[in-house]
Amino acid sequence: MIFGRHYYLGQAANYSIGEVFRHLFTVGLTRDIDALKRYLVQRYKGKQAILCKNGRSALCLALKAYFEKGDYVIVNGFTCYAVYEAVIAAGLKPLFVDIEKDTLNFSVRTLEMLPSGHTQGRSAKLTVPSEASPSVSGKITGIIIQNSLGNPVDIKAVENFAKEHDLVIIEDLAHCTGVKYADGRECGTVGAAAAFSFGKDKMIDTISGGAVVFREELSHEIKAPEKAPRLSDHLRARFYPLFGMICRGLSYVHLGGILMRGLVKIHWVEKSADNRLDLTRRISKFEAKLALEQFNKLKRSGEPPIREFAFVDNRDEVLEELARIGYYFDGLWYKQPVSPERYYKKVHFPEEECPNSVFVAKHIVNFPTYYARSDLKKAHEIVKNHAVKEGHE
Ligand SMILES: *Cc1c(COP(=O)(O)O)cnc(C)c1O
Repeated sequence: MIFGRHYYLGQAANYSIGEVFRHLFTVGLTRDIDALKRYLVQRYKGKQAILCKNGRSALCLALKAYFEKGDYVIVNGFTCYAVYEAVIAAGLKPLFVDIEKDTLNFSVRTLEMLPSGHTQGRSAKLTVPSEASPSVSGKITGIIIQNSLGNPVDIKAVENFAKEHDLVIIEDLAHCTGVKYADGRECGTVGAAAAFSFGKDKMIDTISGGAVVFREELSHEIKAPEKAPRLSDHLRARFYPLFGMICRGLSYVHLGGILMRGLVKIHWVEKSADNRLDLTRRISKFEAKLALEQFNKLKRSGEPPIREFAFVDNRDEVLEELARIGYYFDGLWYKQPVSPERYYKKVHFPEEECPNSVFVAKHIVNFPTYYARSDLKKAHEIVKNHAVKEGHE
């Protein structure tokens, strides 16, 4: 085990020293932006690609392109606040659907539990779910496929469901860039649009940035963001891998946390969830360049990393036990059905209708991808010892 006992190992841990310096000094040009756009259009068979400040802005543009204000879109009942934010910012309403415990995704089984009359397509009028005001009505016209932690949905079945109910599919690629569905198609080549996040710890990680590929004709014109990123955002993205590395180093003497908290306080580091949705700003040019490099690497290495997960009782105790022998497992995805915790209340999540989502959020641990598989042996043992027993849920 090469790691000591410390809590800040998770900070930018995907970045090697070489990559930290590349991140600091890479010069991006307009042609890097164009190259990334061309690549995305080609790989995802799109009509057009737009590069954005972050994933939630990209998802928002995808939603705006295909839906009318006031419509409902189906959202996985286990997701992050960024998705909720994108839906709201597009003038739409989220309809959370419960997940399956083995895939962390909705399935046709849970989709069909939507009260009848709900999924009658773009032309039909329908009543809203019970947690909302019964006097309001709206149409469910879309479905966001998320492929949680890289686990693909049963795409054929979901696609049929969408067809049957006249729903437009949007694919959120934040967790699943490079992943293939069971029928061999790549995630991002199925829906009307694919939205990417290049944020911290995502499959393509340039600290911030996002993109949307429109694969079908747009119902209305979408304005591409043109303004350059704010200097402060640009610098935060440049320096985060370095700060992360310093904090990881300092955590051996228990100072990493102090430094990181200080950096957050003076806004030199921003927590991912606080990254603002902004439809007027594009990605930094250097991030476009690095994102394209990562896309090419993803292609070469074949199977991308997927966050393994398990369900444990007394998660806090398990995390403590893991920490005692040097594993940093915090920064969990996800502790609430819509994470992070500090935004959860805002969402008014329909807990009663999504029991599996609630269960999973309470019990899940997921294995960070910055440990080598062989380094995780002991951690697997600990997690196994505390696994939730079948029938004791
Ligand atoms: C992180 C994430 C996004 C987008 O995040 P940004 O921080 O805005 O780049 C979208 N969907 C899912 C499921 C995510 O986890």
